[in-house]
Amino acid sequence: MSGMEHSMNRETVGRFAPTPSGRLHLGNLLCCLLAYLSARSKGGKFLLRIEDLDVPRCPKRLSDQCIEDLRFLGFDWDEEPLFQSERTAIYQKYFDTLTSLSLVYPCFCTRAQLHAAIAPNLGDREPVYSRACANLSAEEIAERARTRRPAMRMRVPDEVISFTDGHFGPVSENLARDCGDYIIRRSDGLFGYQLAVVIDDALSGVSEIVRGRDILFSTPRQMHLQKTLGFASPDYYHIPLLMDSHGRRLAKRDKDLDLTALAKAMTAEQILGMLAFSAGVIPENRPADLSELVRIFDWKNISREDIRLAYTPQAAP
Ligand code: GLU
Repeated sequence: MSGMEHSMNRETVGRFAPTPSGRLHLGNLLCCLLAYLSARSKGGKFLLRIEDLDVPRCPKRLSDQCIEDLRFLGFDWDEEPLFQSERTAIYQKYFDTLTSLSLVYPCFCTRAQLHAAIAPNLGDREPVYSRACANLSAEEIAERARTRRPAMRMRVPDEVISFTDGHFGPVSENLARDCGDYIIRRSDGLFGYQLAVVIDDALSGVSEIVRGRDILFSTPRQMHLQKTLGFASPDYYHIPLLMDSHGRRLAKRDKDLDLTALAKAMTAEQILGMLAFSAGVIPENRPADLSELVRIFDWKNISREDIRLAYTPQAAP
């Protein structure tokens, strides 16, 4: 059954899953907006999950700020937010299942070794792992483990994973060739994003995922994990990246476009209206609230190219 058929007989449950390693920026907010509108326009539920797995990088202060910013804009969610930092025992259970299926192996490669093995021309995709540690004997593992704590890698099959993204269209990837065995637990013991996301979405009953196109090529890995762990795959909508008004990628240096500055200059409705207009939800740049946007939302109107922000910060008077 394809993802699209799934959605016809399941309740729609959407979600926003920010990583609070900094203050939310407009790219995050656009993603939240489209995820929210997509789910709510189908009469569905909306959930918030704080992806603070990497606790040192994601302090509580930033999670609190993130929730406060979303509330300021008028977003609401149907259950208490989940915090990944509190869910290690759950990830461990599924990690143990993968281990018992012999799908996980320890990798002792140093950063320098990984770097030396990088093939050129991979663009912004991660390098494919050389599998240097894929077939170590029990003795070799024991020997290496004496001096180094390993990361754990997921063995991927030589298999093409295909799906139809609700916004981007058809996507295919051969896991062994294009992605390679990837880390699902870091050497410091933290579980990796791919595993945590798959488990959390499945256990929360998430039926559609709206997120940035920069994560598009995580999806085949996640679908493979879903199949392996016996979870249904949700529908996916990967949205274009948000550019500034000159067509340049938004960057952390664009301080005048972060919420601290924007919330001083604009109301919540002005910010939402500007984002909604930039993405194609509404045909003119004007203030709008979420209940109105939910009524008129249609994926057909959403830009398929990079989205240009319809806002140029004014120079201070
Ligand atoms: N936490 C990820 C991020 O903030 C998004 C993960 C997802 O939507 O699957 O980029």
